[in-house]
Amino acid sequence: MQPTFNFSAEDLAFDKYNVWHPYTSLTNPLPTYPVIATSGVKLKLADGRELIDGMSSWWTAIHGYNVPEINQAVRDQMEKMSHVMFGGITHRSAIDLCKKLVEIAPEGLEKVFLADSGSVSIEVAMKMAVQYRHAKGQPKRNKFMTIRGGYHGDTSGAMSVCDPHRGMHCLFSDFLPQHFFTARPQRRFEEGCPDEDFAELEQFFKVNANKCTAFILEPIMQGAGGMWLYSPDYLSKIRDLCDDYDLLLIADEIATAFGRTGKLFACEHAGISPDILCVGKALTGGYLTQAATLTTQHVAKTICSGEAGVFMHGPTYMGNPLACAAANKNLELLLNSNWQGRVAGIERQLKQELPPLADAHSVRDVRVLGAIGVLEMKKTVNVPDAQKFFVENGVWIRPFRNLIYMMPPYVIKENELGKLTKAIANYLHH
Ligand SMILES: *Cc1c(COP(=O)(O)O)cnc(C)c1O
Repeated sequence: MQPTFNFSAEDLAFDKYNVWHPYTSLTNPLPTYPVIATSGVKLKLADGRELIDGMSSWWTAIHGYNVPEINQAVRDQMEKMSHVMFGGITHRSAIDLCKKLVEIAPEGLEKVFLADSGSVSIEVAMKMAVQYRHAKGQPKRNKFMTIRGGYHGDTSGAMSVCDPHRGMHCLFSDFLPQHFFTARPQRRFEEGCPDEDFAELEQFFKVNANKCTAFILEPIMQGAGGMWLYSPDYLSKIRDLCDDYDLLLIADEIATAFGRTGKLFACEHAGISPDILCVGKALTGGYLTQAATLTTQHVAKTICSGEAGVFMHGPTYMGNPLACAAANKNLELLLNSNWQGRVAGIERQLKQELPPLADAHSVRDVRVLGAIGVLEMKKTVNVPDAQKFFVENGVWIRPFRNLIYMMPPYVIKENELGKLTKAIANYLHH
């Protein structure tokens, strides 16, 4: 790890009152922990303490931190070219990345748009769906269908399809476009869906599909909307209904892609391909912000045959070479590793160590899939208290609402993962 250096009280006061952190107040600020270095599965705090990381920095750092191969790939790229505009120019790292994504993505997804963040990749997906419908001469079909409990990002289009109650809809409802929501899938990942489950869903399509261009959802795992793991049968049914009602299916795999659920893409649990796929988070292994939206030849061709003749989006930092280089090395490391074995190992251990915690009266539900372990509590967690407790126990776990969960790096060792689950057990009984 790097040598330590200190933060003055003044630095930390400035951070508290002048620097926005995600979803925070500047007048009633919560504690932040200064991190000075990261390595392997550990975060090193300014006071010298080391924490085992259970979050992979919001599910990005699948190989852990300070990965020599990715460091080198980014350094090599920087020596050649850090950035160049993508309009009218192309480069090796972008071509390699797009080729790799097409190769590994579910079948039929062969056109790649490189976006700067997960939220932007969702905006791009939604604009693709709108332009597609416009080009088909059905411009009035410009709404979206989705399920409650979803989370698709913080930009306007993405917010408009987030959970309408617990999400940001109430506050922004006059500003956001209105879309169509149905119940979140009720059956758990391990369960099948009997036919009678689908009566309401079929009705939902019957009533609303003619006003909509696409159905958007997170396959198998709803992430920041509630860490809910649902039946693959539900996803298959959505694919069928989208086909029956001529809707595009947008799969938001920003949280799930690249092995997190035990498959490279969560869509594989149901054996389906979406018409549009969004990936982000783990794409660069936690190095640089980069996401991608993939679509089919059919959708791309239709969009480009429309009035505009082009797809109307193009961020300044599109295809950033440093981010592409990090992503290329990250995917190479992943695909050349025994990631299936590692994720299965994490799943096995979580399935042993988490379910006994359900005995605590404060716990409502325990869910495990792949390298994801979730405790749903009966009450909202006091996040600053919990975080302090976890830091004192040598781990980094950041709960939200009533959820305490782990999405550790795939390289985490058995004893390190054991420390994470032990810290949660201690928290439940403290
Ligand atoms: C994190 C996330 C997003 C938003 O990605 P950002 O990079 O934070 O903009 C969208 N959808 C899902 C499922 C996510 O987990």
